[in-house]
Amino acid sequence: MPNRRDFLKTSAIASIGASPMLAACGGGASASQQQKPVVVSTWRHGMPANEAAWEELTDDGTALDAVEAGVRVIEADPETRTVGRGGYPDRTGVVTLDACVMDERGRCGSVGALEDILHPTSVARKVMEETPHVMLVGDGARDFAIEQGFEETDLLTEQSRQDWQEWKEKQEETPERPEPNIEGEVDEENHDTIGMLALDANGHLSGACTTSGTQWKMHGRVGDSPLIGAGLFVDDDVGAACATGWGEAVIRTAGSHLAVEKMRQGASPMEACRAVVERVSNLHGNPEDVQVGVLALNKNGEIGAYGLQSGFETAQYTPEAGNQLVEADAFQ
Ligand code: ASP
Repeated sequence: MPNRRDFLKTSAIASIGASPMLAACGGGASASQQQKPVVVSTWRHGMPANEAAWEELTDDGTALDAVEAGVRVIEADPETRTVGRGGYPDRTGVVTLDACVMDERGRCGSVGALEDILHPTSVARKVMEETPHVMLVGDGARDFAIEQGFEETDLLTEQSRQDWQEWKEKQEETPERPEPNIEGEVDEENHDTIGMLALDANGHLSGACTTSGTQWKMHGRVGDSPLIGAGLFVDDDVGAACATGWGEAVIRTAGSHLAVEKMRQGASPMEACRAVVERVSNLHGNPEDVQVGVLALNKNGEIGAYGLQSGFETAQYTPEAGNQLVEADAFQ
């Protein structure tokens, strides 16, 4: 049965020194009491990403600068197996990256199935700032990145190559169809897309979302993460949301857009995230082997998150509490 507890549960993990820049109160901020700056992100790898974003936010950086700086830390970390360099390759052994950004002015940029470039989020920002388009994919995205001065980088680490070879050998014995995002046991060290949302000192919102997508996906598959409205949506009048997990389910529900629209109608960030998970559950049942997690931040700096399965963690950096890992409530 769904678990509908009303509040996020803090999972007694790191809490790193709170900043003196406390603008207002915590979770119950009203329209006149905006908590800022705030940065939130998905999963445990959000903790170091938040640190980098916080530096930007407390050094006059915009929310857009902050989310880009934050997720770049994880894109460059070969130990994170689901984002950037070191991410798992697709079925053909090629690492392809998906990412997007959206800012306070409703501007957005995105790349899908990008190969050989370390920082897809920065390329997405360039698409937003330097082109009349929103999204570039595949070879076109890579050519554009190179034209913009990004260096070609081998994204397939030795570890990923070995893992892929092992998987491939198993396929020869018992071939698997491409599967949705199979979690099995939630492995906290090795988890998923990073979506990041920030509210800056001027009270403006931006977000970023970046991933190597599902492990052993079909070549050319693009998930929810680079799709504006699915993996990420920002409306500076209302709030921002991002998603992680089974990308196809998030796309089918336009998950992040739905969360922001729910907040526009008066839902708290937590209620908005739960509404998305409920929509996924209505469409697909409650499959035990897939995860969808949604994270939202409203204009007042209030944070909410909800998962289809338990185990969905978010990293939340606020002036009051510092940087802490928080486990979201979940259906299952
Ligand atoms: N949402 C990502 C995708 O479907 C993967 C994930 O977050 O696990 O590509």
